[in-house]
Amino acid sequence: MNKLGNDIWMKGGSTNVGIANFDDIVYIIDTGSNAKFAKELLLEIGKGQKIVLNTHSHADHIQGNRIFENAGAKVYASDLEVPFIRNPQLEGFYLYGAKSPKALKLSFYKAKSSNAHPFSEIILPSQFELISLPGHSLEMTAVKVEDVIFCGDAYFGSTVLEKYSYPYLVDVKKFLDSLTILEKIDSKWYVPSHGEPTDDPHEDIEKTRATVDNFVNATLESLNTQKYVEEVCSHISQKMSIQLSLGTFYLFRSFISANLSYLETLKEVEQITPGLWQKAN
Ligand SMILES: [Zn+2]
Repeated sequence: MNKLGNDIWMKGGSTNVGIANFDDIVYIIDTGSNAKFAKELLLEIGKGQKIVLNTHSHADHIQGNRIFENAGAKVYASDLEVPFIRNPQLEGFYLYGAKSPKALKLSFYKAKSSNAHPFSEIILPSQFELISLPGHSLEMTAVKVEDVIFCGDAYFGSTVLEKYSYPYLVDVKKFLDSLTILEKIDSKWYVPSHGEPTDDPHEDIEKTRATVDNFVNATLESLNTQKYVEEVCSHISQKMSIQLSLGTFYLFRSFISANLSYLETLKEVEQITPGLWQKAN
């Protein structure tokens, strides 16, 4: 574990997890992307009262919830994320728009369910601040503990951006607004869920913003000729050499769909017949 403050640590992994010990309670911010990681963390933390705070409901952030719940921890998240944590099949359901196909039933998209409660049901110690940073998911929330902010997926480290090539989001405007909010928050440490903790996240935030802009522009450009959403996806994935699997195709389609509805609010694109998009005249 990396020590980031007096009683604050991070356990690095494919999804970083925050740990904070206040008033004899250990708070765990997200529970990692797999059961092995969560079991290790539980052993490291040891006995005593524990509380899980989820930044959002994506499977790679809640995969260890059940393990902590079985060890007596209660789980909390924001109102709109709670139903997804309680019913993880909703992730595949919203990505696909109906009962999930086989590819979206893998653990990458579907964690084990846990009985999450809304943040309004917990009184946190005064050192804690919950900061709403929606856009990546419906109601993602960063958790700031003293001088350490656990940012969830509000932004991505540059190596992560290069590896995954696009920053997943469901609402472009809210995602960009959340980046602006995050930039103004004064903190000693910024911990993205994917990437390295840093005392200066501005370069990574700027790179995240530039990558989003790049995809919004690519979406607009792809509509030089009329296209259906899935044609926009294949056009951009080919042009940018993005490898899609049977499952990640639906993540990418969700991301591109968010770009389209954002461009529609800017009056840059329009739907001319059902499902068919073009640049606005
Ligand atoms: Zn996420």
